[in-house]
Amino acid sequence: MTFDYDLFVIGGGSGGVRAARVAASEAGAKVGLAEEYRMGGTCVIRGCVPKKLMVFASEYSEMFADARAYGWDLQDGAFDWPTFSARMRAELDRLEGIYRNLLTNAGVTFYDARAVLKDAHTVELSTGEVFTAKHILVATGGHPTLPEVPNADLGITSNEIFLMEKLPQSVLIVGGGYIACEFAGILNGLGVEVMQYYRGAQILRGFDDEARGLVAEGMREKGVDLHVGTNIMQMEKRDGRIWVKSTTGRECTVDHVMFATGRTPNTAALGLEEAGVELGRWNEIVVDEYSQTSVPSIYAIGDVTNRLALTPVAIREGMAFVETVFNGNPTAVDHKLVPSAIFTQPEMATVGLSEEEARESERVEIYCSSFKPMQRAFAGRSDRALMKLVVSQKTRKVLGCHIVADQAGEMIQLVGIAIKMGATKEDFDRTVAVHPTISEELVTMHTPVRTT
Ligand code: NDP
Repeated sequence: MTFDYDLFVIGGGSGGVRAARVAASEAGAKVGLAEEYRMGGTCVIRGCVPKKLMVFASEYSEMFADARAYGWDLQDGAFDWPTFSARMRAELDRLEGIYRNLLTNAGVTFYDARAVLKDAHTVELSTGEVFTAKHILVATGGHPTLPEVPNADLGITSNEIFLMEKLPQSVLIVGGGYIACEFAGILNGLGVEVMQYYRGAQILRGFDDEARGLVAEGMREKGVDLHVGTNIMQMEKRDGRIWVKSTTGRECTVDHVMFATGRTPNTAALGLEEAGVELGRWNEIVVDEYSQTSVPSIYAIGDVTNRLALTPVAIREGMAFVETVFNGNPTAVDHKLVPSAIFTQPEMATVGLSEEEARESERVEIYCSSFKPMQRAFAGRSDRALMKLVVSQKTRKVLGCHIVADQAGEMIQLVGIAIKMGATKEDFDRTVAVHPTISEELVTMHTPVRTT
């Protein structure tokens, strides 16, 4: 049987674009790709990239005072959202253009249209065009979920925050995960009054307790009005603002309620079930270690599979898919020891097991240091950094590293290499410190603070 394409990719985000590009340019496949919104997906258009730009913008608010402490004659400036937002949008346009060029240069034919599956080898576009393909790759990502609160549609999500025309005076953020905590810091830094409700006992569930405790403390010190054990119960529009009552009986009125209560895979109305593709409990596409679905010709990668919702992971999954399907080299994606950073203020980064996870399975030594970094302390700030290593007593391997500090994300990338290589605590000890830095603490902690 002949097909129109060797591969048809649905979704032009990080994973889909990488798979399409590499399949076409390196494996010589004839590739088509359809994207219904903007090329670049969540990461480039409404996720990592604009978020990080907003983090940079928000961090300047503390720098005026710090610069004065270092002897600069400087007054606090005022932040102008329209100026920043226009520049941010221009940057996203530029990046989207790069994505399009990359696809064109690789020889991928792309369609600005929604694609749905007709059967195991056929897609139909919203333009009416129908194409057959030997393999179909679904990389449609996910979208923010609203909780089941009456009038939840009065709230906004991270999708809308990038498109705001003016900066609100006050925002209530609901949730305690990555997105909620990152935006609490961003908006607070930009001068918005930020309240945050999290239903559990401590934000950033799943991360190392000590590290997330320090992040929560730092967020509060910087001005985020964080309430744990608290959820939203009622919301109503009143005089153009939003009135909210919490589960603890607290009432307040804010300009916006932002829900950061998790994301759902984009699997609805794609023809997946009709084509025989199995979906899981969270509406994710169920795949095996090679990203193959229950229909052999259909594969899925990235957030739509609800494995690890991180851009670099989706890219890895895309590369492994091409290696498996087009280069005849079955390659499973390694989801172990993936380093990641949470761009909260203070920033947190992590790789491997938390102390709580590690001690479930073996006896561990904990090395931990919390201190005031020189740059901030000199400026009179009380910010503290944290460096923590979780070490196996038996193998001496470093099982986890947790950092709360400026540039924690940059540090964890490098520590991640050592830990992925199986470094022991003694390997860390043998490494000479770089002085004076924050990260030197990672190689100078000689005595465990506890063994558990
Ligand atoms: P998360 O799953 O991280 O967090 C969702 C939060 O919402 C949790 O605190 C959860 O509480 C809470 N929640 C869920 N349902 C409700 C409800 N009905 N009422 C009140 N609270 C609720 O999702 P995010 O949307 O923050 O992020 C999605 C994914 O995107 C992340 O898992 C991550 O993989 C990725 N991401 C990564 C970033 C990075 O690498 N820096 C940045 C942003 C996103 P509970 O803990 O009790 O379940």
